[in-house]
Amino acid sequence: YQAKEQGLGYQFYRLDLENLSSERLTLENSLRRALERDELRLYYQPKVDLASGAVIGLEALLRWAHPVRGMIPPDQFVPLAEETGLIVPIGEWVLRTACLQIKAWQGEGMPLLPVAVNLSARQFRQPSASGETEGRPLSDEAAGVHDLVETIERVLGETGVDPSCLELEITESILMQNLSTAANILQALSAKGMRIFIDDFGTGYSSLSYLKRLPIDTIKIDKSFVGDITTDQDDAAIVAAIIAMAHSLRLKVVAEGVETQEQFDFLLERGCDAMQGYFYSKPLPAEEILPLLRSTRNSSSGRD
Ligand code: C2E
Ligand code: MG
Ligand code: MG
Ligand code: MG
Repeated sequence: YQAKEQGLGYQFYRLDLENLSSERLTLENSLRRALERDELRLYYQPKVDLASGAVIGLEALLRWAHPVRGMIPPDQFVPLAEETGLIVPIGEWVLRTACLQIKAWQGEGMPLLPVAVNLSARQFRQPSASGETEGRPLSDEAAGVHDLVETIERVLGETGVDPSCLELEITESILMQNLSTAANILQALSAKGMRIFIDDFGTGYSSLSYLKRLPIDTIKIDKSFVGDITTDQDDAAIVAAIIAMAHSLRLKVVAEGVETQEQFDFLLERGCDAMQGYFYSKPLPAEEILPLLRSTRNSSSGRD
């Protein structure tokens, strides 16, 4: 927003800012109560093996079913949840809800599919019980580096879900904020049998050396590279290079945001392992997943 230095333009600019901050406060207060009021939802988006067309997993994506504004996407409230620390209890709710859903699907006879949960930086530096460190930078010790590991183990234990059914998606920026803490946490989670995905790969401006040092299973190519792979030579080159590099490091590759047959074919030809995107399915409420799996299994025994 450009501030206009004079006249009505400036007035409007000021008013806008005031609206923005009071709007923010309202949002923050209602987000605080969203958990108690049971307004959060998880949608699930399939991950599809490119070569076989089989669904190989699901990603849990958070939504806020706001009573007035309707379904709010995570980009509009997760940043605020991170700033305020609310992402810590919300993140635990996400883990528990995803695990309960895995159990429910097992009971309904759905083929066993791992579910991936997105983690935020704040969960990696979750203060220990006292919470007195709020607002101050946390040292590794004060941050209680194993709180996230304990939380995940507790939720798995309480819900009776096997760690191999839970996948964790983290961004490069989480790693960069505190590499040694993140490395310890990931080692512990990986040792329990959870697979770790690097989300939004290619947008983090980070060193690549972590790829060989950390227990990473898969990288997810950010959808900003995938969107134009069939029209933009540079994006095509970047995606092909990421796939080749990942494979030579014995990592698997998922492409995000695949919307067209042409993108699908490009990725298949370059040896990408799996895809996620509207081309196969949008994120769906849990109850629509089993019908989707049934209909695609019955209707298409092999795409052409
Ligand atoms: P993400 O983890 O990279 O998730 C992928 C996003 O791309 C999702 O947006 C998904 O709906 C969208 N997407 C999938 N296929 C396509 C496609 O073909 N085209 C396009 N244009 N978009 C596609 P969504 O659900 O709005 O989530 C946005 C981001 O919010 C996520 O990005 C993730 O960073 C964050 N997020 C979502 N759920 C959680 C959560 O439970 N905890 C945390 N900390 N962050 C979350
Ligand atoms: Mg993700
Ligand atoms: Mg992503
Ligand atoms: Mg993202």
